[in-house]
Amino acid sequence: MLDLSAPAPKAKVIEGVTGPWEMVIGLEVHAQVATNAKLFSGASTQVGAEPNSQVSFIDAGMPGMLPVLNEGCVAQAVRTGLGLKAKINLRSAFDRKNYFYPDLPQGYQISQLFHPLVGEGEVRVEVSGGTRVVRIERIHLEQDAGKSIHDMDPAMSFVDLNRTGVALMEIVSRPDIRSPEEAAAYVSKLRQILRYLGTCDGDMQHGNLRADVNVSVCRPGAWEAFMAGDPSGLGTRCEIKNMNSLRFIQAAIEHEARRQIAILEDGGTITQETRLYDPARDETRSMRSKEEAHDYRYFPDPDLLPLEIDPAWVDDLAAALPELPDAKKARFIADFGLSDYDASVLTADTADAAFFEAVAQGRDGKMAANWVINDLFGRLKKDGRELADSPVSPAQLGGIIDLIQSGDISGKIAKDLFEIVYTEGGDPAAIVESRGMRQVTDTGAIEAAVDQVIADNPAQVEKARANPKLAGWFVGQVMKATGGKANPAAVNALVNARLGL
Ligand code: ADP
Ligand code: MG
Repeated sequence: MLDLSAPAPKAKVIEGVTGPWEMVIGLEVHAQVATNAKLFSGASTQVGAEPNSQVSFIDAGMPGMLPVLNEGCVAQAVRTGLGLKAKINLRSAFDRKNYFYPDLPQGYQISQLFHPLVGEGEVRVEVSGGTRVVRIERIHLEQDAGKSIHDMDPAMSFVDLNRTGVALMEIVSRPDIRSPEEAAAYVSKLRQILRYLGTCDGDMQHGNLRADVNVSVCRPGAWEAFMAGDPSGLGTRCEIKNMNSLRFIQAAIEHEARRQIAILEDGGTITQETRLYDPARDETRSMRSKEEAHDYRYFPDPDLLPLEIDPAWVDDLAAALPELPDAKKARFIADFGLSDYDASVLTADTADAAFFEAVAQGRDGKMAANWVINDLFGRLKKDGRELADSPVSPAQLGGIIDLIQSGDISGKIAKDLFEIVYTEGGDPAAIVESRGMRQVTDTGAIEAAVDQVIADNPAQVEKARANPKLAGWFVGQVMKATGGKANPAAVNALVNARLGL
């Protein structure tokens, strides 16, 4: 169920010459389904293969070939719907969207216009003002097109059909997004959920997740009225196609809203159209207006029966769903006492979360979080390395924390130990033994060092007796004399006792 208790959004306000404006944004995200085979053929979806080496007769649009629905793709879309708390439609259907393009040999794309597989759901988005709910309108399955290559030869274009027929999920949001930052946060959260579910790899750079961004502008209050049932105050929207970077999505929205405001303040009207964003010039350009829009002549695909799915199968998929980001974050906060920020960082992806949990299990959670985030992630970042290539395992990092907790090493020595384990490997406890890094808690040895420092510095002793704040100097000297291995608490106590403080 949709939770409307979340706070109302903070809309971005742009001051125009005729007064304030706000923006309304809705996204259509295309996410490539993570599966081995295409939506209606058994051809492989492996990336990086020779062009046109993964093309079945169906993908090539050979006459008389019949599509066979890949159950794995349906399962992935249903799992995605469940992960977004959406309604799963037990009966859906496939439609043909007819158009001609060289990388679409069938002459139509199979999609789901009238009866999508997944209905209304939600994505919780964290923005600076708090948590917001962006409603999902629908998710449907469709085929991707191939790739046309125009820049390999001055006189020829090439077509690679390897991607033709690969399954896409189109995830359509309601126009609930109110600022460029929120649009980026929405895509980022959606991507995180898909990656947790394993239904899309979320690789935006390779176009495996891309967004069509719809933007309109209106006066303050119009969106709230729309939410209450009166859409009359909303503006006409323009759609910016095929965005595959969070940074460009934000820049394009900002630019597009300002462009529309300028037109409206000039007494003009907005024409509904499809635009393209040019990052080099930071502007959007018209691609086609609604009048020039294609008439796709959608109709139900006669080669495919309506899709009926068994509710028990949906229940099985629901029962096997992994823990999702919000739940994991809440659990990390509750079980390990983490701050909201630390919990967010550590649940960014499942690999980070699993690493942290392995370190934190049976140990101080806050301390484990600090070591994972500050020391390990910080060190990896410095080297440009990924967690997957971390030279320090959870067991090794846990071992370092155990040595601090048992009093065998000080926090300071632990940093040196971490560096040794990071660069040379090895068992932390064994390294402490073999290199004599163990903290000196033996009072006899510390006493000797304290007495020596006091005997060597009579003038300082006088000063410290007059001003106890100066006792810290002696602690520092003893730590130095013992190579940082003395237990600082023990040194402190002894110094105070010897100085009579
Ligand atoms: P259509 O039926 O013309 O495709 P939809 O209602 O399905 O239009 O909306 C397509 C996308 O545009 C959705 O993501 C939706 O949230 C968004 N959208 C709809 N109206 C607006 C608006 N006034 N401003 C911004 N985005 C909008
Ligand atoms: Mg639509």
